[in-house]
Amino acid sequence: MTAIAALNSGSSSIKFALYTLDEAQEPQLSARGKLERIGEAPALRVVDGQGAPLMAQEWPDGAGLTHADLLSQLFEWAQSHLDQRQLIGIGHRVVHGGGRFIEPCLVDAPVLAALDELCPLAPLHQPHNLAAIHAIADIAPHLPQVACFDTGFHHTLPAVATRFALPRAWHDKGLRRYGFHGLSYAYIARQLAMVDPALAQGRVIVAHLGSGASLCAMQGGQSVDTSMGFTALDGLMMGTRCGSLDPGVVLHLQQQEGLSAAAVEHMFYHDSGLLGVSGIASDMRTLEASAAPEAAEAIDLFCWRVVREIGALVASLGGLDGIVFTAGIGENSAATRARITARLGWLGAKLNDSANQTHAPIISAPDSALSLRVIPTDEEKMIALETLSVLKGQHP
Ligand code: ADP
Repeated sequence: MTAIAALNSGSSSIKFALYTLDEAQEPQLSARGKLERIGEAPALRVVDGQGAPLMAQEWPDGAGLTHADLLSQLFEWAQSHLDQRQLIGIGHRVVHGGGRFIEPCLVDAPVLAALDELCPLAPLHQPHNLAAIHAIADIAPHLPQVACFDTGFHHTLPAVATRFALPRAWHDKGLRRYGFHGLSYAYIARQLAMVDPALAQGRVIVAHLGSGASLCAMQGGQSVDTSMGFTALDGLMMGTRCGSLDPGVVLHLQQQEGLSAAAVEHMFYHDSGLLGVSGIASDMRTLEASAAPEAAEAIDLFCWRVVREIGALVASLGGLDGIVFTAGIGENSAATRARITARLGWLGAKLNDSANQTHAPIISAPDSALSLRVIPTDEEKMIALETLSVLKGQHP
């Protein structure tokens, strides 16, 4: 038996999953884990395919441990967990494929160099994705590594949806709308086609509401518009990111308030969103449990921004047949889904309250004009599927 791994490596955390391959080459989840607090006091938790704890480890004095150090320990653990099963490849989430990389691909030195050149387009994410590829290449030089792109799913965006109204030379230099969360959207499109093929053929908005949040307008399972553009800052309000702003705010902060570019970047990525508006937390659970008016205000703004952006995407789609909620908030916060759908009565959305409370797959009332669904996302599974397809030679 063989196995493949999926890695999603960020600035302070690494998510991973191990899949064994049965005779039909179907990936079966064998272990899933998260390494958190890298750079402070790293902690690792791993569960098996059924969610039962497999192992946990903490490094209270591990502030000096690098991603590479921790990946090396993780790799060792994975080898022992897999026992006799041979690891035949590792897939990585790579946030930016630029205009060139759409399909997942095997990583070799020229590909890695080309991906490195895209780092300025996603400076807070891409370097960490690539560092993991470098680290695995050192640990296991002959193991095939596959890059799976978060931008790839959006290659079907019509040209008009990719352009900023800036002088065209900047567009030609790559300043355009790309869209992100593509692995999640690809997974949801695949699942929706299985559970509701008729809806999947129609006009659907997928709401990926997690720490990072975005919306994707799909027509027949393909992305035709999305709320994130050039960077993962765009669009919706997020846990700590501000989402779309009047660009004049950036100019004002720098020119009138004297903030450095680095200070503005830090504010927009780390001190804004639910955290910035509430002054309490970035975590929706904490805000929902809080009695502070600032928490309620942050939640209200979060939902309002989702509704407003849905309105824009409905216009792009020329109508709407359904909404799919996914990711941490979309899958688990019945209150957020209720707040959002309550503002969508004008579209004919009608919630089934008890189905919503239990996070049922279908949460629309029978007489709702829109189909409302909850589908748990699984970016690691999508990475595994894409990796497998590359290893089987189905992708060039
Ligand atoms: P990421 O993968 O980007 O870390 P997630 O998709 O896990 O993000 O989403 C994290 C968000 O989901 C947090 O705001 C968290 O509070 C929220 N969340 C998770 N479970 C619940 C829940 N039961 N109720 C409300 N919000 C939840």
